[in-house]
Parts: sequence; structure tokens; C-alpha cells
Amino acid sequence: MFKGIFESLSNFFSSLFGQRPEPKPIPKPPIDKEDKEIESTIQDAPEVPVESISTINEADILEDPFIPIEEPSTSPNSTQPKANTGTVSNIPLEEKTDATTPEEKQKEKIEAAKSKSRYLWCLDNGHGKLQAGKRSPRFTYKGQEVQLLEYKFNRDIVERIMKSLDQYGINYFDIVPDYKEVGSFLKNRVERANKKTSSLPKIYLSVHGNAGPRSHGDWTNASGIETWYHSKKGEKIAAIFQRYLTTNLPNWRNRHLKSTSIKGLYVLKHTNMPAVLTENGFYNNLREAKEMMDDSVRQKIADAHVSAILYIEKHDF
Ligand SMILES: [Zn+2]
Repeated sequence: MFKGIFESLSNFFSSLFGQRPEPKPIPKPPIDKEDKEIESTIQDAPEVPVESISTINEADILEDPFIPIEEPSTSPNSTQPKANTGTVSNIPLEEKTDATTPEEKQKEKIEAAKSKSRYLWCLDNGHGKLQAGKRSPRFTYKGQEVQLLEYKFNRDIVERIMKSLDQYGINYFDIVPDYKEVGSFLKNRVERANKKTSSLPKIYLSVHGNAGPRSHGDWTNASGIETWYHSKKGEKIAAIFQRYLTTNLPNWRNRHLKSTSIKGLYVLKHTNMPAVLTENGFYNNLREAKEMMDDSVRQKIADAHVSAILYIEKHDF
């Protein structure tokens, strides 16, 4: 009896003073070899070893006469786009119509343009909400402390591009339409684009913000715009995007076209179609981060992409 009481007391004190059995370690899920490979894969320009980067001036790729440098892109919100090179006038619109209201007429025009759109543009908004890094240091913008999150920036630009393409009747495929989809999603992005069936040839466009090595505190001196490619066909498409981006943002440094022989950026290497990746300013450059927060600058970036798309839709190469 005394022994029983002693044991009960002993258990009681043990529970009070934490002498509990060691918790069993939680077994880790087996790491898929492929996932491991993707984890260590280059996703974005800042991850590419500097010594492996090749830079080409887009002027060496583009033939003359080509995109007029002074040509700004048209407003994507215009329903009556200007008749300019590389803009919506590239898409011939039907004249004959039974539509009665302006809305119906516009809808018909868009449908007519869509039937003539030559490519399916697979639009990748880069990165997910929970992806580590890919954000600026905190800074003050319009009197508030803010942080630029790359996935939000990329998604905003792609949304603006899609809004314009809807107006211009250009076919596109929104690769990651759900805002809640998190993580880097590299493999899924590529698979979705590769598996998408279309009677049209596909072109992959991935939109990003850049980051550079720290040069003062948390910030970098690196700045500007660059466009990445992997294949020969991607090179020419990249040159057109770079030309329009630097035309629309003349105050930003032109970092030209980039490629790397080592590994290659995952989405460019594994997509089974011509693919380009644009890096639109450095979010850890304080001056550029502030600009990248600006609505009108974002619209200029989106407009430049749309102008490049419209140009490519019009020209054979
Ligand atoms: Zn990125």
C-alpha cells in the first residue's frame, strides 16, 4: 500500500517537474530527388553566378529598320488605339458588323482580333507568397514604412498586361491565376505551360523584379532592366522585350540581354517553347524600389511588355 502511494506521489511530482518521456522525433517526409533538384535550381537573375553570365546588346540582334526607339507604347486602356508601329493597329479589325451598341462593336472587334492572334502567350507571374527572400528591405514611401514583395509586384504587372491583351484581342494563358497559390511553384508553372494545348504556337513570358548584391547597408547600387533567354529563338524575342522596356523607361539603366551557360534559369530551360524572363528594376535599390511602387511606372512596364507582344504578333521571325 505504501509502495502504491509512493508511486502515485512520484508520478505526481514527475508531472510537476517535467520529468516526462522524451518526445518521439517526427519523421521527416522523404525528400523527392526531383524536388531537391528544383530547390537548388536557378529561378531568378540574382541566383546566377556572375562569372557565368553572358551579356548581349539587343541592338546586335535586332535588324534594321526595326522598332523605332522613340516610339512610346499606347495606353492599354484605350479602346480606340493609335495607328502606330508595334501597337494595336497591328491587329486588323473587322469593319462589317451587326452590332448595335458601342460595347457590342468593341466585343466583336476583340473577337475578330483574337481570331487573328498568332500566338498563345503563357504568362508567368514568378514566385509565390511564402517564398523566402524575394523582397526589399523596409523603406519609407509616401510617408509610410513599406516593403516591396516581389510576388506582388510580378502579379500586378502581369495583371496589367492581361488587362491590355483583353482589349487588344491577344490570346494568353494565365499560368498562376490563383493569388493564394504559394511557394515558388517552378515545376508547376513549367508543366502548366508545357501541357497547355493550343492550336497556336506558344511563347512563355516570365515577369520579375531583380535584386543585386548589397553595397551599402541592406541596399544595392545595381539598377536597371535586363531580359533573359536560353534558346536562339528566345534571344530574338528577348531583344524585342528589352528594346521596348528600355524605350518606355529611358531613365533606367539598360542592362541588355542575359544568358547563362551554367544550368540556365529553370523556367527558360524546361519550357518546350520559346521563353523569356524580364527583370524590371532592382527592388533592393532604394531609388528603383520607390519607382517600382509607383502606379505609373508599373503601367509603363506593363505597356512595354504589351508593345513587345504586339510587335511579335505582327512580325515574322
Ligand atoms: Zn524573381
